[in-house]
Amino acid sequence: MVNCVICGIRPAVGKGEHVWPAWFLKDADAAGAPSFGWSSNGEALLNRDDEPLHFAERQRLLVPACRSCNATLDTRFEKPAKEIVRRLAPNSWVGDAEAREWAAVGLWFAKILLLATHPLAMHQHPKINKHRIIGDWETEHFSWLIDGTPPPPDLSLWAFRAEREKGTPTARVLLPKVVQLDDGSTTPFPMTMITLEGICLTLVYHPGWAIDHPLVAEGAAWELLHNTPEGDLADLPLLPFNAINWRRPNTVVLEDGLRLDGTLPPLGVITGSPIPGSLIDVIRAASF
Ligand SMILES: [Zn+2]
Repeated sequence: MVNCVICGIRPAVGKGEHVWPAWFLKDADAAGAPSFGWSSNGEALLNRDDEPLHFAERQRLLVPACRSCNATLDTRFEKPAKEIVRRLAPNSWVGDAEAREWAAVGLWFAKILLLATHPLAMHQHPKINKHRIIGDWETEHFSWLIDGTPPPPDLSLWAFRAEREKGTPTARVLLPKVVQLDDGSTTPFPMTMITLEGICLTLVYHPGWAIDHPLVAEGAAWELLHNTPEGDLADLPLLPFNAINWRRPNTVVLEDGLRLDGTLPPLGVITGSPIPGSLIDVIRAASF
């Protein structure tokens, strides 16, 4: 018997939780076949004839979930966002929306990005499943989804207006996969990035270490969980989906005595050297 991946304690039942809601996939299919093939880490998945895998319908993605978590996610994330998503998604997420509407959309996307790369997440098609990306999110990162608390302050969800074409990145940003302290303890900084028609979303958990997102600073991206915007995504510049090149060392070791307590200079843009100048006295070693 598999346990629910969200609470981690109760047994999973039935099909589990749809990471992408069934109504969302159905709406999208009704609007037309997917315009893109499936890829993994930028590589197209190929069929037996070496053609990129392409389906007439969007593929389901399910995680094992219990009845209680399933119901809580529906009440807290699906119901408040459904009508807004139905309005914005068919227009490449362009259109006027109030701050409370973007807040609902942000929570909805956060749930999707948290669960989409779970090791037990199952894609409908075995080939996609075989090549799926497995993330570093753990049960502890999901607790706020079901206990009624707001998203953690250091869980950030950035959104910018994106085209599906790869282009020249605007900036390189340092984001360790794991941070190690002088006592040997380690803290993962998990991340998931997804590009849909018209929008790129990046979810990062960076406990105790702020991130200066260069696109936010220049008004080209929004943070949706804590600084909810108001207005139209069309007012942001259209960027390639890879506008931010996240540089992810496997481990960053902090100098003696430093802690992830919110006092470190923020993670941010890398220019010349592999470490931003403001972090030279903060980072003892980084393994790329
Ligand atoms: Zn559960």
